Amino acid sequence: EYESYSYERMLKIRKQNLSPSLNMYYKKPLLLHQGHMQWLFDYEGRRYLDLFAGIVTVNVGHCHPKVTAAAQKQLGRLWHTTNIYMHPSIQEYVEKLTALLPDPLKVVYLTNSGSEANDLAMFMARVYTHNFDLICFRGGYHGASPYTLGLTSIGSYKHGVANGFGCQTTMLPDVFRGIWGGSHCRDSLVQTIRKCSCSQGCCEANDRYIEQFKDTLSTCVPKAIAGFIAEPIQGVNGAIQYPKRFLKEAFQLVRERGGVCIADEVQTGFGRTGSHFWGFQTHGVVPDIVTMAKGIGNGFPMAAVVTTPEIANSLAQNLHFNTFGGNPMACVVGSAVLDAIAEDGLQKNSEEVGAYMLLEFAKLREKFEIIGDVRGRGLMIGIEMVKNKDSRQPLPDEEMSPIWEDCKDMGVLIGRGGIYNQTFRVKPPLCITKQDAAFAVEVFHAALMRHLERTAAN
Ligand code: PMP
Repeated sequence: EYESYSYERMLKIRKQNLSPSLNMYYKKPLLLHQGHMQWLFDYEGRRYLDLFAGIVTVNVGHCHPKVTAAAQKQLGRLWHTTNIYMHPSIQEYVEKLTALLPDPLKVVYLTNSGSEANDLAMFMARVYTHNFDLICFRGGYHGASPYTLGLTSIGSYKHGVANGFGCQTTMLPDVFRGIWGGSHCRDSLVQTIRKCSCSQGCCEANDRYIEQFKDTLSTCVPKAIAGFIAEPIQGVNGAIQYPKRFLKEAFQLVRERGGVCIADEVQTGFGRTGSHFWGFQTHGVVPDIVTMAKGIGNGFPMAAVVTTPEIANSLAQNLHFNTFGGNPMACVVGSAVLDAIAEDGLQKNSEEVGAYMLLEFAKLREKFEIIGDVRGRGLMIGIEMVKNKDSRQPLPDEEMSPIWEDCKDMGVLIGRGGIYNQTFRVKPPLCITKQDAAFAVEVFHAALMRHLERTAAN
C-alpha cells in the first residue's frame, strides 16, 4: 500500500517539508511500516527489537490487540465533544486512574502532551501558592513549550529567545557525573556485581547535595517558592537516579517554604520502574501534583495532570479549558492501556526482566573500560559510556555512534541521551521477554567487541 513511497522519496519529503530542528536517528534513517508489541518492521520487512519504545511511550506494546480493539470500537461511535458534556469513557477512565493514586491525588485534568501537562502543573503551582519561583534540576526535561522550556535544563533544546523566567535550576544529585558520590552503590543488584557498598559514596553525597538544594531555595525571590518539579528518574538525561533520601528531604524543604511538589511521571509512570506503578513511590513520597504523558496512551496523544482537591479548587476561581483533553478516543485508549498493564502483568515483567538486564549490562561494565555506569530501575536503564573509567570523560560521538549503529544493524534499536549524548537508554515496551533481553545484551556485547577491534586497528 506504500508502493509510491520509496525510501528516497521519503527522505526528500522529510528534508524539504518537515522540521529540520529534529534529529534523525541513524546515518540511514529508519523507514518503518509496522509495529507489533516489542517489535518494529521497516519498509523492507526487517524486524527490530525496540529498546526505546518510541521514546519510552509504547509501554504495553506496539498495536497491542486490546488497545487497538478499544480504539477501533470507539472510532465508530463518538470521537469528540469536548468535555463540557459527560461521556462514560471519561468517567470510567478517571475513576480507574485515580484508583491507582494515593490520597489526596484524586482530581484529574486531561491534556494532550507532556509539555501541556507540565505547563498546567506550573500554572497550578503558581495560582495555588501565589508564589512564582519554580525549582528544577539541571539535566531535566519537562517539555518544549515556552513555559516548560524554563524547566528543561538541557542546552540542546534551548533557543535564543527568553525563556525560564521564574525557573531556578538546582544542582543535579548525580552520583556518577556529579561532584560528589561515586557510584550507584545503593542498587543492591548492581552492588552484587560491582562489590561496592553504601559506605562508598552516594549516601554521604546526599547531605552535600541537599545543602546545595537549600542554597538554591535561599536565592529564590521573595524567599517563598511556588514549587519544585522532578522526574523520579531523569529520562532524557540518561536514567539519572538520585541518592535514596534526596527527594524525600527536598520535598520537605520545599513544603516548609510554601511550595508544592510536582512529580513528572511522563517516563517513569505506568509500571516502568517495575517495583512500583509510579516513580515517586520508589522515593517514599506523595507529590502534590503528578504529570503523566507518553505511556499513558501507549502512543495515542494524551496526557494528564492529577492533583489534590485543594489545589484544584484554587484553579476553579476561573475557567480553565482544553478542547481535546479528555476526548472519548483518548479515554478508551487510556482505559485499555491500564487494563493491559494489569492483565498482562507488565509491572511485574518490568521488574523481573529489568533486573535481569541491569545485571547483565553491569557484567559488561566489568569487562569493558568504556562502560562507566550501569543504572536504572525496572525497564528504565542507562548505560553511561566513558573514555575510560578513571577519567569518566564522556565517550565522544565518533565512538558512540558506531556502537549504536552496529546494534541497529544487528536488529536492536537503542536510545541515546545525556547532556553529552553519552548514555545509551534502554527503555523497551514493558512486554519484552527475558529471551529478548538476552538477545539485546548479546547484540550490545557484539557491538562493543567490534568497537574494541576498531580501536585496536587504529
Ligand atoms: N516530561 C518528560 C520527563 C519527558 O521525557 C517529556 C518528553 N520527552 C516531556 C515531559 C514532554 O512531553 P511531550 O513531548 O509529550 O510534550
